[in-house]
Order: sequence, then structure tokens, then C-alpha cells
Amino acid sequence: MSSMSKNYYDPDRLILVCNDDGIFSPGIRALAEVAKEFGEVSIIAPDRQQSAVGHAITVSDPLRVTSFQINSKMKGQAVNGTPADCVKLGHDKLMGRKPDLVLSGINHGSNAGINIIYSGTVSAATEGTILGYPSIAVSCTEFTESAELTGAQDAARRAVRFVLDHGLPSGITLNVNAPGGPLKGLRWAKQANSRYVEEFEGRIDPHNKPYFWITGRLEILDQGEDLDLNLLNQGYATITPIQYDLTAHNFFKNQSKELT
Ligand code: MN
Repeated sequence: MSSMSKNYYDPDRLILVCNDDGIFSPGIRALAEVAKEFGEVSIIAPDRQQSAVGHAITVSDPLRVTSFQINSKMKGQAVNGTPADCVKLGHDKLMGRKPDLVLSGINHGSNAGINIIYSGTVSAATEGTILGYPSIAVSCTEFTESAELTGAQDAARRAVRFVLDHGLPSGITLNVNAPGGPLKGLRWAKQANSRYVEEFEGRIDPHNKPYFWITGRLEILDQGEDLDLNLLNQGYATITPIQYDLTAHNFFKNQSKELT
């Protein structure tokens, strides 16, 4: 049976939906709508903007939870913490039972290239992977809240179907990015080696003191048709398998047992 005609809905499937833009972001509603096609949805997300907090967790303050009616069809729980906090707390205390799938996004802004490492959206999904759940991060490269998210929703739908059909090896998270607008295609891609240049704009405050505002432009450092940033520039959505094992295995295997 093709994935287009197969019915993937299972009322016993519980899906945790998180993000880093906060529970009132349009992107999380768009992702929750996709999640509802596959099962029961529990939205647990930060109560405010948490973009670029990476994998931070809250260790010196209590976490508090507020239930919200997001719209007429969706309820959610807002946490005064980070995206990773939300997934950890959801898994341990807030969901009643363990989730079958963790989805994070749809982020407003690209999480391709080096952005992956700063991203709270990706870290929520990575936390899901650490806890043992198949997890997918979804981002739209268009930053504005009014971005057309149908392409990102279609890409998310395909990624979820892939995971339900094939499973995911432990330790691997899927990172999906899509341009705004309808989906042109979803391509498997590698994280492009990239970095920010011209990072800060310096200004002078009314007290004549300098201050700095992060702006920056992303520079792609390698070339290849299978790189996320290049494919996104061509209008394709991308799906990148990523891992939190940070050991440099190629370097490690060339070292002796002891450094003397
Ligand atoms: Mn964000």
C-alpha cells in the first residue's frame, strides 16, 4: 500500500508536540494539526519565546505549568522553562502515559546548517530521542509569523509516515526544514558546514555607551548537492538524520589507549 492511501491514524498513539517559539506561536498549532492526523496530541511548550536556547535545562528555579486553551480545538500546557525542560517534564510528569512520538516546531526560522546547534526546536526533539522516543524537529525557513506553513506541514507529514513505516534507530533524530509556501519536494540532506559572519551590529545608546546587536549572515563553507542549505536555496524541503553522540569517532579510533 502506498503511503498516500494508507491510514496512519491510531487513537492509541500519543504524540507530544513542543517548540521553542512558545505555546502561542502559529507554528506549533500548524504542527499539532498534522499530529492529530496520526493520534492523540499533547501540546507541552514554553510559555514564552525560547529560540536559540539550545539544549539548556532549568536547574536553579522551579518549573511551573499552566493549562491553556490555545483555540477552540486545542488545549496545551505552558511551562516556564526551555524546550528540553518541556519534553523532560512532559515525559516524566505531565502526560499521564509515555508518548509514542515527539514532534517539535514548526519553528519560524531555518534550523539548517550550523543553526542546528543553537536551536531550541531541534533540542526538544533531541531530548525526545535521548528519552527513547522517535522524534522529529520541523522548521520553516521563513522567519515571519505569517509564513505559509503548508509545505512544512507536508514535509512533517511525510517524516512522520517514514518513522511509522520504518522506525528510527536509537540515538537518531530527524531534522526537517522547509521553505515557506507549498512543498516542492522533500530531500534527504546532510548538515552543511556553515558559520555566521559579520555577526554583530555595533550601536551607541543614549548614554553614549556602545552596545551590540546580533544580526549576522550565514556563510556556507562546503559545496555539494546533498547539503541542507543548498537544497533549501533551490526551494526543496530537507530531512537530515542527526545524532547527539558528540564523540569524534574518526579521530578517536586513530588514538592509542593512553596519552603519555
Ligand atoms: Mn524558534
